[in-house]
Amino acid sequence: MPQLGFGVFQVPDDEAQQAVTTALENGYRSIDTAAVYQNERGTGRALRASGVPREELFVTTKVWNGDHGRDRTLRAFDASLERLGLDYVDLYLIHWPMPHRGTYLETWRALEELRRDGRARSIGVSNFTVETLRHVLDETDVVPAVNQIELHPYLQQAGLRAFHAEHGIRTEAWSPLGQGKGLLDDPALAEIGRAHGRTPAQVALRWSLQLGNVVIPKSVTPSRMAENIDVFGFELTPDDMKRIGDLDKGARVGPDPATFDAGA
Ligand code: NAD
Repeated sequence: MPQLGFGVFQVPDDEAQQAVTTALENGYRSIDTAAVYQNERGTGRALRASGVPREELFVTTKVWNGDHGRDRTLRAFDASLERLGLDYVDLYLIHWPMPHRGTYLETWRALEELRRDGRARSIGVSNFTVETLRHVLDETDVVPAVNQIELHPYLQQAGLRAFHAEHGIRTEAWSPLGQGKGLLDDPALAEIGRAHGRTPAQVALRWSLQLGNVVIPKSVTPSRMAENIDVFGFELTPDDMKRIGDLDKGARVGPDPATFDAGA
C-alpha cells in the first residue's frame, strides 16, 4: 500500500473523474473512496481511463453503516465494484463500528469471505477504538490490515497507534490536514515549514509519514495536490517532531467513533 494516497471525501461524482485524473497525473496511485461518498462511479471512470496498469493502482472503498450484516455487506460490496467498474479492490473497510448496534463482528466476517475469494485483496476497518478492535481480534480470524482513523497534529492518537503497532495493524490517517481548518494556521507548523522551505500542509503530512502512518490528504486544487504529494524530499528533525508532538489537544474535526451512528 502506498504510504501516501488521495482521498475523495466531499468530491461530487461529476467532479471526481477530473479530480482523480489530475491526482493520477500528479503521481498519486492510491485512491480512497467510500460507498457513502457517492463518487465511486466518477472515481472508477478516472481509474479506467488513466492508462495506469491496474496492478499499479491501490483502490480503497468502504461499506456504509446501513449495510452492516453479512448479506447486506456482500451486496454492498458487489454494488461498489459495479460502480467502480473494477473486478477487485485492494482494500475494503468497515466505515464505522457503531458499537451499540452490535453488527461489526458479523460485518467483519463478511469481509473475511470477500478476502478469501480474492475480490478484496486486503480488508481493514475505520474509526475502530481499542475496545472494538480488541473484540475483532478476540472473536474473528483475520487481523485488520489497517485502521483508518482521524489523525493530525491536534489529534495524535498515541494510544491507538501503540495498540496497532502491537498487533500488526497499519495506522491510516484521515483528515491528515485537519480538513485545512485551524490546523494549517498553526504558528509552529509555519515556523518549522519556513526552516525547511515547506508549507504547513507539507509539514503536517511529513510528520505523519515519519510516525509511520499512511496518509490520504484531499484537495481538488491541482497545485495543492502537487504540494501534498511532494513530501518525500525533506526530513523533519527530532526537535521538529517533538514540537509537533506537543501540539496534541485531542481535538476532533469529525465525529467520535464511540458514539457515532448514522445511516439506516
Ligand atoms: P484533509 O485533512 O485531507 O483536508 C482537506 C482540505 O484541506 C481540503 O478540502 C482543502 O480545503 C484543504 N487543503 C488541502 N490541501 C491543502 C494545502 N496544501 N494547503 C492548504 N489547504 C489544503 O481532510 P479530509 O478530506 O476530511 O480527509 C482526507 C481523506 O480522508 C478524505 O478525502 C477521505 O478519503 C478520508 N476520510 C475518511 C473518513 C472516515 O471516516 N474513514 C472521514 C473523513 C475523511
